[in-house]
Amino acid sequence: MFEVVIGLEVHTQLNTKSKIFCACKTSFGEEANTNVCPTCLALPGALPVLNKEAVLKAVSFGKAINAKINEKSIFNRKNYFYPDLPKAYQISQFDVPIVENGELFINLNGEDKRIGITRAHLEEDAGKNIHEGAFSKVDLNRAGTPLLEIVSEPDLRSSDEAVAYLKKLHSIIRFLDISDANMQEGSFRCDVNVSIRPKNDDKFYTRVEIKNLNSFRFIQKAIDYEVQRQSEAWQDGLYEKEVVQETRLFDTTKLITKSMRGKEDSAEYRYFPDPDLLPVVLEKGMLDVKLPELPDEKRQRYVKDLGVKEADAQILTSSLEMARFFESLIAKNLNPKLCVTWLNTELMGLLKADYSIENSPVSAEKLASLLLRIEDGTISAKAAKDILAYIFENTDVEVDEAIEKLGLKQVSDDGAIEKIIDEILSKNADKVAEYKSGKDKLFGFFVGQVMKEGKGAFNPAKVNELLKAKLS
Ligand code: ADP
Ligand code: ZN
Ligand code: MG
Repeated sequence: MFEVVIGLEVHTQLNTKSKIFCACKTSFGEEANTNVCPTCLALPGALPVLNKEAVLKAVSFGKAINAKINEKSIFNRKNYFYPDLPKAYQISQFDVPIVENGELFINLNGEDKRIGITRAHLEEDAGKNIHEGAFSKVDLNRAGTPLLEIVSEPDLRSSDEAVAYLKKLHSIIRFLDISDANMQEGSFRCDVNVSIRPKNDDKFYTRVEIKNLNSFRFIQKAIDYEVQRQSEAWQDGLYEKEVVQETRLFDTTKLITKSMRGKEDSAEYRYFPDPDLLPVVLEKGMLDVKLPELPDEKRQRYVKDLGVKEADAQILTSSLEMARFFESLIAKNLNPKLCVTWLNTELMGLLKADYSIENSPVSAEKLASLLLRIEDGTISAKAAKDILAYIFENTDVEVDEAIEKLGLKQVSDDGAIEKIIDEILSKNADKVAEYKSGKDKLFGFFVGQVMKEGKGAFNPAKVNELLKAKLS
């Protein structure tokens, strides 16, 4: 009955060495108020100087999302008072951002959907208020850290689409290496704007903004809760009263959103161009930054050049770590299809929710040695599963050691296999006669018998080869 409308604002911390308007370090987790100087402490008379690296990173993001890059953009003052903002204004871009009109594509159920990106602008982060009992303290280490704020069009229609968009954006940013995008440390955080409307109505209704979400799971839950709340209000005839333009917070234990404050309109920030900073004018060469291969290009290459299935290619390019892992396997000249199965199905199956590819107990190096042992016939694929499970639990054991330990070496030695073949054939002389008179299907029976006698340790290719020779 209702359609959901979602637009996202993502703040991503650019991974420059120094802050956006001073030379202070941007390192995380330092002692409070040690990464500070007169500029980011807002001492009188201190002046900002723009960090060129931050500009270059914004430009490469703009190119990656196929956007218009403004050769001239402006820094404004966004005025508001808050204890973690000592200047009482934030330097941000407003009417002329560096990046405008971009796009990215999400893929749900095999279909690409375009999501517009309205703008991406540079700004400085604020410090951090720390509330401890009766006291509140301010840590200004983060004040002045460069942020890229990326604002989407209200093109998303479900919490699933919102999460798919964020994951895609996250991976693009990681592939570009413009931010570590670490969600726990707040280097990639999201404000979610949600509204509902009757199906077939193309008007936009009142949006609610849910601030500062930093996990995909919470983002999904916050949206689902908010959609539920707004729909119920509508059905109860309380929409006007209960759905107002405001900022809400998500309570991560109760999984509900709560009103935080009314939403300011931009006029209240009294934006004006910062007189301490000249307009940013890009030099010619700055637009020529070379981009690395991005997720979509990689995906297409895997499909086209390596024969990987579309759905698998999607998984392999879902994150930089995943693509790196896959490419280290491929680099060992292993069969790509074998690599895909063992990474996407077998290893991912073991990683499940407890691990991710970044902290996989089995490294790419180790998985490659395992696959090599399948390819050279030392072990069967079935035995390889047991070995994978074993080295997953026992991280200090190497693949060859595990094969020995578990006694899973495949028998490829002709003599041993031929001995069993002779036994089976003499025990089944009648079937051999039938086979020789044309009942070809019996070949499978012989293979089965030999494999059974070999307790799964015989190399099936060898068994086939030797049986054929014996029977001809
Ligand atoms: P502000 O800083 O005031 O939140 P922005 O322009 O930075 O404003 O961001 C507005 C966000 O809200 C955008 O992502 C936009 O797509 C989204 N949005 C606008 N209208 C609606 C709506 N009716 N429902 C859901 N999202 C909306
Ligand atoms: Zn500083
Ligand atoms: Mg907002």
